[in-house]
Amino acid sequence: MKQFKTESKKLLDLMINSIYTNREIFLRELISNASDAIDKLAFQALTDSSVSLGEDELAIRLSYDKEARTITVSDNGIGMTEAELDKNLGTIAHSGSEQFKEENADHQGDDIDIIGQFGVGFYSSFMVANRVRVVSRAFGSDKAYAWESDGIKGYTVSEAQAGELDGAHDHGTEVTLFLRESTDEDNTDRFLSEWGLKELVKRYSNYVRHPVQMMVEKRRELPKPEDAPEDYKPEYEEYEELETLNSMTPIWKKRSSDVEQEDYNEFYKSTFHDWEDPARTVSFHAEGALSYDALLFIPGQAPFDLYSKDYEKGLALYSSNVMIQEKCAELLPDHFNFVRGVVDSPDVSLNISRETLQQDAQLRAIAKRVERRISSELATMLKDERETYETFFENFGRALKFGIYESYGARASELADLLLFWSAKESKMVTLAEYAAAMPEGQEKILYASGESRERVSKLPVVHDALEHGYDVLLCTQDVDEFMLQMMRSYAYTPESQADGDEPAETRDLELANVSDADLDLATEEEKTAAEQATKDNASLFEAMKTALGDKVSAVRVSASLSESPARIATEGPISLEMERVMMQAPDADGSIRAERILELSSTHPVFERLVAAQAAGDTDKLELYSSLLYDQALLVEGFDLDDPVEFAKKVCSLM
Ligand code: ADP
Repeated sequence: MKQFKTESKKLLDLMINSIYTNREIFLRELISNASDAIDKLAFQALTDSSVSLGEDELAIRLSYDKEARTITVSDNGIGMTEAELDKNLGTIAHSGSEQFKEENADHQGDDIDIIGQFGVGFYSSFMVANRVRVVSRAFGSDKAYAWESDGIKGYTVSEAQAGELDGAHDHGTEVTLFLRESTDEDNTDRFLSEWGLKELVKRYSNYVRHPVQMMVEKRRELPKPEDAPEDYKPEYEEYEELETLNSMTPIWKKRSSDVEQEDYNEFYKSTFHDWEDPARTVSFHAEGALSYDALLFIPGQAPFDLYSKDYEKGLALYSSNVMIQEKCAELLPDHFNFVRGVVDSPDVSLNISRETLQQDAQLRAIAKRVERRISSELATMLKDERETYETFFENFGRALKFGIYESYGARASELADLLLFWSAKESKMVTLAEYAAAMPEGQEKILYASGESRERVSKLPVVHDALEHGYDVLLCTQDVDEFMLQMMRSYAYTPESQADGDEPAETRDLELANVSDADLDLATEEEKTAAEQATKDNASLFEAMKTALGDKVSAVRVSASLSESPARIATEGPISLEMERVMMQAPDADGSIRAERILELSSTHPVFERLVAAQAAGDTDKLELYSSLLYDQALLVEGFDLDDPVEFAKKVCSLM
């Protein structure tokens, strides 16, 4: 017997002991696997002329045996070889196993989420069964193999027994579940009935493209005999008939007005292996020179691997009911990589080499329309459903930001209005337009500050000062934020007209500025003149301090706006302290990228008098000590680590 991989074991354990009430989804998972297997075979037949499918209809069959307490789901799809049975059913969540372990560690008891985050389809069988047997025969192979497991100890793979999938034309897979005893809680008995299975197929698998069939019992009236007596009572006979249980019309071909949201949700969950309903569903159709149907979903939660490099974006691409590509990346721009969905077009060439697809002008035309629809959908959501949008942005805002950053700001015109930032003044998320609309007279720039956490950034002296001046500050805490804002440089703000019939107001280009930027001037004219004067008056003091600090700073001077704190570090040039920090975290950072720092002092703070006194007394040691302490504490306030904290602590003690 082979052992399951550790992470599979944990997951299986969760499955078996799951308190999740929706155990019935196991059938949806098995049917969708079967449907995928048929797709794979159909696709192969299309691309490889040596594969002929013969007369057999490709279909999924269900059956049950009340006595034996079994349910069987079989398909005549592509099947699995011995090695594939081992690999595909012995491991779980192939790409996500590492993350699984981590996620699992901090999600104790929160099993639904864990189950939902992975496409754990097949394993859900163990929610209802205590033994599962999978017999499969790969297309073109003359031998069938069986995989069997109790879901706990491990599994075996061996040759199938005589009679199992051994007909001359057989290929495909047969999954048999040996159901557990029914309890009040999970009532597995209901699956051992015609109506029980029919109901599940209707609810969860109605739009599966291939027929899901079951032998059902029927009753019909026997023809009336010619010599029937006057008081003849009709007679009936029972018979069996193969019935197709699902509607099969692809859901994306239907008008959205004809589909219940619930059906879209089920389709979404079963197709894209999500546990949660989508946040938004968009369906649209085009007819004419280029016709297609598209059905898009904005997920309600971010898949666990969205921001990892393993994540593959893309929409499923169908042409005339055949899946051409499971994830056609060309259909989605990177900044909408989180969107899932289907595009079906008879016009997309069935000449299926990837290269051809990439160049396909039709595909590009569809992609453009897809992008526009997503943009407008998000804009509507932001306008009409603020709360939902904020959740969306929490999940996927990063992708939009990367979109702006990676296009060197070129996409800002489409995406800037979809961004949200935390407003220090309002303590809530605001758009750039909302920020701009609330700017007081005289404010010319949009101000932001960045750092590790809101808590921290909001306490920066510069943020405090800006707020004192009546200016709001956007608090940025994601590593991409500042890089993106630098690429954007400015935001084109068009004020909303106040009343109907007003001329639309003129668009203004508002510069985006970091409050820590030394060139930024928030101070009044008087404050500025006073600071310049104080800097001039104390030129020799600053000279001495600069000498004491050496390369650490490029200048020391009086700040025009600092009020409560004795000192701060302002930066000059394109790199801010926060950007320096983010770039230093890159694996290949060599420390050569540095923000140009200026130590700014408040001339009204009592500490300033001490500096002046030390300078007047010619006490160089003291001046050196003070300079270094002020610099270090300003760095600490910015949330930076000190190069030498021990030295800093010693210096502080020396003052006591
Ligand atoms: P997922 O479907 O999300 O990949 P599953 O655990 O449900 O995960 O299935 C694992 C793999 O096993 C599938 O990716 C597929 O390769 C294979 N598989 C499952 N069921 C079948 C089937 N009926 N026919 C062929 N292959 C199958």
